[in-house]
Amino acid sequence: MDRLKFATVWLGGCAGCHMSFMDLDEFLIDIADHIELVYSPVIDVKEYPHGVDVCLIEGAVCNEDNLEILHKIRRRTRVLVAFGDCAITGNVPAIRNQLGLKNGESVLQRAYLEGAQSNPGIPREPGIVPALLPRVMPVQEAVHIEYYLPGCPPPADRIKAVLAQLLAGTEPRLTGAQLKFG
Ligand code: SF4
Repeated sequence: MDRLKFATVWLGGCAGCHMSFMDLDEFLIDIADHIELVYSPVIDVKEYPHGVDVCLIEGAVCNEDNLEILHKIRRRTRVLVAFGDCAITGNVPAIRNQLGLKNGESVLQRAYLEGAQSNPGIPREPGIVPALLPRVMPVQEAVHIEYYLPGCPPPADRIKAVLAQLLAGTEPRLTGAQLKFG
């Protein structure tokens, strides 16, 4: 059987969802023969490949770079999973939406001018700070998403349940104990 071409991506999130993924511990060894990790922050691949089967997306859509890669990922991936509450609702990064439509500029001012202890100045050079979107979005506002894996972060057992079902070729469903917190 062909191995599942598997990817994970990190948009506007704190990396906590990926840390929870690493908490899968020995299950990662169990699935190693069944998946091929083709793109992820934990491997050194620069370009998102074509023909990906499943991608877990951590984080909200906060800037133009996030939006651009998310559209590319959608075109190149069969199944997208919104991975964690930032991807699903905007969660922590979307707090800045309260600042209104000009919040991108307000955030830069707060971070680089008002909060600066030395050398205040907003970096404007290309490639330093990606252009912020006026409003942080959950991923499903930008692209179609097949499945949602909630939690901040989703506990490892819940990630395991979804991955096991995807690997078995069944429709992922979270019920009862898999949705229990704590
Ligand atoms: Fe971090 Fe929670 Fe957002 Fe995951 S859902 S990126 S753990 S803040």
